[in-house]
Amino acid sequence: MAPPRNSRAPETLSVVLSKVATRGNKLIVTVNYHGHPKDGLVFARDRDGNPSATGDNWPNRVHNWIPSLDHPSAKATVSFTVSAPRQEQVIANGRFISTTIAGDAAPANAAHQVWKFEETRPIPPYCMVVAVNQGVVIKSLDQNVTQLVYNIPLKDSDYAPKGFSAAAPSLTFFSQTIAPYPYEKLALIVGATRFGGMENSSAIVFPSTLFEHRPNEKIRTRFDIPTHLEEVVAHEIAHQWFGDSVTESTWADLWLSEGFATYFAGLFVEKYDGEAAFRDYMRDAAQRYFRFEQQRNLPIHDTSTTDLMALLNPNNYEKGAWVLHMLRRRLGDEAFFKGLRDYYNAHAGGNASSEDLRTALEKASKNDLRDFFARWVYGAGHPRYELGWGSMERRAVTSVVIRLNQLQDGDAFLDPVPIEFVVNGKKERRTIVPTGKSTTVTIQLPANPSAISIDPDDTLLKEVVRINP
Ligand SMILES: [Zn+2]
Repeated sequence: MAPPRNSRAPETLSVVLSKVATRGNKLIVTVNYHGHPKDGLVFARDRDGNPSATGDNWPNRVHNWIPSLDHPSAKATVSFTVSAPRQEQVIANGRFISTTIAGDAAPANAAHQVWKFEETRPIPPYCMVVAVNQGVVIKSLDQNVTQLVYNIPLKDSDYAPKGFSAAAPSLTFFSQTIAPYPYEKLALIVGATRFGGMENSSAIVFPSTLFEHRPNEKIRTRFDIPTHLEEVVAHEIAHQWFGDSVTESTWADLWLSEGFATYFAGLFVEKYDGEAAFRDYMRDAAQRYFRFEQQRNLPIHDTSTTDLMALLNPNNYEKGAWVLHMLRRRLGDEAFFKGLRDYYNAHAGGNASSEDLRTALEKASKNDLRDFFARWVYGAGHPRYELGWGSMERRAVTSVVIRLNQLQDGDAFLDPVPIEFVVNGKKERRTIVPTGKSTTVTIQLPANPSAISIDPDDTLLKEVVRINP
């Protein structure tokens, strides 16, 4: 009988080891291959009409051009050696090592250059990229946190430094909020990607439509750029910490990447554009989520969706951001951000699950968050409140009986609900702690309220269906 041999099926490379290996053994496997990848490394004309090649792998397309365990839990270091025509620029993950002339040609006559990059920190396979193009490379004037460069087609070179103006402050702000920037440099590349931005570790790719004018779009005064440009740049940079450095263990934990990036873009808006802009950002997010929920009412921690592209949905982005926002409001800024820093530091360069986040926040806040996670992360939907009330006056005290109903399908949300009353022109706050889908409480007020509102500060992802006297 012949010994077993290495074999290749369309999605699988089977390697026969020379001797039996056990868990923990280190092995070196060399795979030689060639060809024109059908996906993952995308060949396209750039905005100048020049040829380019750009890695674009999410969620599991990298194995089309790099032999790999194509799953976010299989993080690895990576180095690239790329031979490219001399007129091309090459950029890849990690630190630039060198360019050398290929072959024996004299430098002036050489047709090709060889570029080397090395990423020494483990990154998820979907973040492994090279980008080859004839664009211009612009060094950002702001080199505060890390080496920041833009690699873009000539057509975009005038606008790019302004269009990317949120990048340097994002790096500074997230470094101060969480931990030092995790990588050796950051390149912002305009190239081929099917996404609105792709957060490849230290080499983010934005589509060529990024700088296109969108009619009717708001301009925020702080950076004088359209809102989407500020938000998408902050979002992709936030991924360098959340998604790239701390990577979701399973696809069901994707909100640890997308929910974090969405919320941190919101925190950026809060810091640089103010409280009102942040509130608008979160309200828009809630509306997008509510529209999605009408189509698909599933938990954020979604183990039933097998089409990975379908996971790029408002559950993981907008509702994930809202879960973080609710935790922040519940725990307070100090415990919340301490919990996030502890979570980040414990898993930087590795993987994390929703349970890892829960335990880190519980430790930092000394709160039990099992019920919160059970309802908001592992359960579906959001509360839809209906409030009814009536009052009785006796000896200058008004007793108000309040019934708070929850109209959503499924279990009750037991989160405390702030209620605001306007009494004699003054605001009075009370909190109702629901005991089920219908909760009745009696509270004392100085007089009959002239107005009642539920959670006026938006501490909960909720809808108020009606308030009845
Ligand atoms: Zn994202």
